[in-house]
Amino acid sequence: MISRKRSEELFTLAKTYFPGGVNSPVRAFRSVGGTPLFIKKGDGCILTDEDDNTFIDFCLSWGPMILGHNSNIVREKVWETIQNGTSFGAPTALENELAELILNNNRYIQKLRFVSSGTEAVMSAVRLARGYTGRDKILKFEGCYHGHVDSLLVKAGSGLVTFGNSSSAGVPKGLVNDTIVVPLNRIDLVEEAFKQFPGEIAAVIIEPIPANNGLLQVSKEFLFCLQCKAKKHGALLIFDEVISGFRVGFEGAAGLYSIQPDIVTYGKIIGGGFPVGAYGASTEIMSKVSPEGDVYQAGTLSGNPVAMSGGIAALGECLKPGFYEQLDAKTKRFTDSIELHARNKNYPFRIFRIGSIFWLAFTRNDIRAAEEIDPNGMEHFKKLHAFLLNEGVYFGPSGYEVGFISTAHTDEQLNKAAASITRGLDFVFQA
Ligand SMILES: *Cc1c(COP(=O)(O)O)cnc(C)c1O
Repeated sequence: MISRKRSEELFTLAKTYFPGGVNSPVRAFRSVGGTPLFIKKGDGCILTDEDDNTFIDFCLSWGPMILGHNSNIVREKVWETIQNGTSFGAPTALENELAELILNNNRYIQKLRFVSSGTEAVMSAVRLARGYTGRDKILKFEGCYHGHVDSLLVKAGSGLVTFGNSSSAGVPKGLVNDTIVVPLNRIDLVEEAFKQFPGEIAAVIIEPIPANNGLLQVSKEFLFCLQCKAKKHGALLIFDEVISGFRVGFEGAAGLYSIQPDIVTYGKIIGGGFPVGAYGASTEIMSKVSPEGDVYQAGTLSGNPVAMSGGIAALGECLKPGFYEQLDAKTKRFTDSIELHARNKNYPFRIFRIGSIFWLAFTRNDIRAAEEIDPNGMEHFKKLHAFLLNEGVYFGPSGYEVGFISTAHTDEQLNKAAASITRGLDFVFQA
């Protein structure tokens, strides 16, 4: 068993400072039990906690650390920038530099605006869609997460095309009533929603690769049809690529599937481990954003030079030839070896994977919608999670969360982790 003495002390203290002892709820280990590990440092794919335990990390700060922790390239660029001060509230050349890197290598957006988080990007994209169309309603999908934006903290109600129920206290009814929730992969119900609310839907928002509630399988055809339906009914299609952007390819899911959304949101990888988000669209749509247009959106720390440097360094690496191919092949070798073991043992276990995103799922079935996830599988995950911590393998503390692989994970480290996971599955299914 790993020692958790120091983490336990720190958590006890943290609970006197922060609700639940944390500054973001899933960090609290509520769904797996036990004490959150307080991390002292990260290097490559290795995390070291305050008790000096080390772990091979598959959480990667929930996605951003595609180069692994403490990358020389990111650290040096950020260090160089910090020598000259950290925030000015005036433009810097670094904003242009990151924008150029992105826009010159992304066929799906022509202009963008930097913000400081994924939530802020989505919130702003929704406002832009409403401002651009002059409509109020938003159509979203059950099982997709878009940050803690009021209008989007809404889950499905009882019908198939429904005004949802808010999934958080404090969300005004008026906003809930402007959000329509539909199951994934049901284009007939999308059409139905447009028929029920003609001329009212400003935007259809989707995670084109839903990766916040397991890794749900959404077909390219469905995404393509969404784009057609949105266009036909005068609504904008928003791809929330906060998790998939720069992860499944430099152009994210839009590039992977060759589908043109109207607005795209980014976060996570875009800042190389610093707080950056962005939303982008055509020049025409972006001209609605203030000060050019009348959709107001601002930020004291937007385009922060230190954060921009992190993004410039990280995305520069992502653009190198073969970057995504290598990451994809490495992840496939890793997940294939674990799946093979599960199949040989006939365990009800699969790994869903797109690029370097993967999800450990306790099922035999394809999972194409949130309601297809068997909650009983989460008990298995809980056991596996605890087992893996003792083995020195770190996953995000919830069975609904995906794992990620970075360029820093070596084949040797991945083989070691795969061996731990297969032992973990034997433990879960045979204990
Ligand atoms: C993480 C995430 C968000 C929220 O981003 P934050 O930076 O946590 O605010 C929004 N949408 C998707 C798809 C995400 O994965």
